[in-house]
Amino acid sequence: MMTLDRTHDAELRSWVASANGHVDFPIQNLPLGVFSAADGDPRVGVAIGDSIFDVRAAALAGLFTGEAVVAANLCLGATLNELMGAPPSMRRILRAAVSGMLAVRSDAEATIKHARPNILREAAECTMHLPARIGGFTDFFAGLHHAVTAGRMLRPANPLLPNYKHVPIAYNSRASTIGVSPARVRRPQGQVLPTGATQPLKRATERFDYEFELGVWIGRANSDGEPIDISRAGDVVFGYCTLNDWSSRDIQRWEAQPLGPFLAKSTATTISPWIITPEALAPFRAPQPKRDPGDPAPLPYLWDDPDQAHGALAVNLEILLRTSRMRAAKAAAERISSTDALSLYWTPAQLVAHHSVNGCILNPGDIFGTGTISGDEGDSAGCLLEHTQDGEKPLTLGSGEQRRYLEDGDEVTLRAHCKRKGFASIGFGDNRGEITPAAPR
Ligand code: MN
Repeated sequence: MMTLDRTHDAELRSWVASANGHVDFPIQNLPLGVFSAADGDPRVGVAIGDSIFDVRAAALAGLFTGEAVVAANLCLGATLNELMGAPPSMRRILRAAVSGMLAVRSDAEATIKHARPNILREAAECTMHLPARIGGFTDFFAGLHHAVTAGRMLRPANPLLPNYKHVPIAYNSRASTIGVSPARVRRPQGQVLPTGATQPLKRATERFDYEFELGVWIGRANSDGEPIDISRAGDVVFGYCTLNDWSSRDIQRWEAQPLGPFLAKSTATTISPWIITPEALAPFRAPQPKRDPGDPAPLPYLWDDPDQAHGALAVNLEILLRTSRMRAAKAAAERISSTDALSLYWTPAQLVAHHSVNGCILNPGDIFGTGTISGDEGDSAGCLLEHTQDGEKPLTLGSGEQRRYLEDGDEVTLRAHCKRKGFASIGFGDNRGEITPAAPR
């Protein structure tokens, strides 16, 4: 069970004025990322309001003291892998120290304001990078409504395969094509079997889709290959982001039997650049929703009472779409879907315990996708496959345009926010990707 401390106090305010009431990054959040400014190389930072706190510059200025010096020294490189590989206490010590420096009436305020090089940067003037060297990317299928709805298109009478409620389903995806928001994603080419045809051909996908998932960052895990017990599997999670698992449905349908998704998924995956830590999310933990009465009990290695009591995450999710025509008309992006992460059938700890049960090694900087998160109705769908029923029921936008799948110039934004009475709301920051035209053959 994660404890709450003074860093969560809803009354806590920052001398960085834009942080107070910020929709994503108030002082109670303090997510970790890697950024660069025009005059420097990529380094570790913490988002605070509309600014970024440069951990390395602060360390070199001598602002950390005591144990926090050790924690900050794990953040001197160009990725977070070193901190990810350290005991989670290091991350907590860093959070407490940064919270103290950025809170009102901090002794560090004057030093931070006047330091050269700048310790505090305008986020709008910085570039975000991948927060870690990613060794492995595993994509799960834990969104129950997505599994049912997508399964129904293939097997109307029997949408869920018999294993679904026993074993967390996943496939090994590509770490090499994960990039951070904002991203430009080129429409992929691939092999498809057009409807009614007997021979496949290679062409640009005509069914390009997004998938709204949560990304689960792995920290210090099991470099020895020992299975990770469910009771400590939650401690292996370093943090969370949003993850857009771009998908070519026509390529997927033709290639996916019998080994599962392949090139339909490895065009690109776009993640939000900031890692929201388990500490920031502590107030937003929730009980894992009860299984349906007829569902099987999970095997003991997947069951932990404390995990069931507060191992799920109450996160609201929104998908926005902006077409090139809307952009030209200076119209705002339109919200086309909203749901929450409580419809995941497995907790993050269950995913970790299952992934390692066979001795598979999880390394700091690995990432999981939860699988597409959807509610059980159209406007809570986490992808267009569900939202338009594979293009059968096109979506009509406020601009009058219709969408079966994504068109060139479309911009997809994923947002995630946590709210709970008595606590400061926090968010994940935007995850944005724009579709660019396919390469000429
Ligand atoms: Mn996926």
